Amino acid sequence: MSPQVLIIGGGLSGLTAARALHLAGIPFHLIEARDRLGGRILSVDATGSGVGAFDLGPSWFWPGMQPSFGDFVQEAGIASFSQRDEGDLLFQRGHGPAQRYPRMRQEPVSMRICGGTAALITALARSLPPGVISLNTVATHLALNSTGIDVTTADGQVLSVAQVMVALPPRLLAAQIGFDPPMPAAVTRLWQDTPTWMAPHAKFVAVYDRAFWREVGLSGAARSQVGPLVEIHDATTADGQAALFGMCHFG
Ligand SMILES: Cc1cc2nc3c(=O)[nH]c(=O)nc-3n(C[C@H](O)[C@H](O)[C@H](O)COP(=O)(O)OP(=O)(O)OC[C@H]3O[C@@H](n4cnc5c(N)ncnc54)[C@H](O)[C@@H]3O)c2cc1C
Repeated sequence: MSPQVLIIGGGLSGLTAARALHLAGIPFHLIEARDRLGGRILSVDATGSGVGAFDLGPSWFWPGMQPSFGDFVQEAGIASFSQRDEGDLLFQRGHGPAQRYPRMRQEPVSMRICGGTAALITALARSLPPGVISLNTVATHLALNSTGIDVTTADGQVLSVAQVMVALPPRLLAAQIGFDPPMPAAVTRLWQDTPTWMAPHAKFVAVYDRAFWREVGLSGAARSQVGPLVEIHDATTADGQAALFGMCHFG
């Protein structure tokens, strides 16, 4: 059966759309530019390569605020645990030493996924039938034809489908994909003006033999007005590998 719908982008949004179409019995195909699924979701092992429990993309979800996300985590049988925040916080106001403040409990509690957030991507991909995903396939152009849409890819393929679902950050969509007929200028401008959430952030993970900060009553959480790491949190995995992660903001 030829796909009725082409999904562009294999991040959380594209894969969630794929799962919804699969459950509705609508034939689809998904193309992803990179050689892996997940997009901004990337969990690595302690060496920084391969799939592991250290998140370089998102770490947290909040089931009360993201109910469908929370429901899928439960439905897929993915175990989750609360972000550790027992202990004091360090705050560096200027270039001087950091000051210590008593624990501030976060509400709602941030939840983490056992095995890293990429476990969710693995579960979503597993819920799809075989052969519906093409990696290393970059969409470059969408053109209306008499029955639907021709999607051109960077390697020169033209895929003709009835409908397209674009699951890219709007700014990337405006920069990467041409349209025939062209999109109204106001729509392109809106896409260009829509910031990509967390795009200027980078995460660094430091793995330790033991969680030494807990031994002195610290939570591992720190904030700095100086940087380069403006936020630090405990990143210890569900199975107890001690770690901290820090976040940098570029721009
Ligand atoms: C450091 C960091 C920390 C974050 N922390 C959190 C958090 O704790 N909690 C939270 O809820 N959110 C967090 N976020 C945000 C969260 O990661 C994103 O909202 C979410 O992953 C977006 O998923 P998406 O599928 O919409 O987009 P993306 O993940 O950006 O997926 C888009 C996909 O499209 C592909 N693509 C791009 N161009 C093309 C093309 N032309 N053709 C084909 N494919 C293409 C990309 O390779 C990518 O795989 C964080 C983000 C970052 C970067």
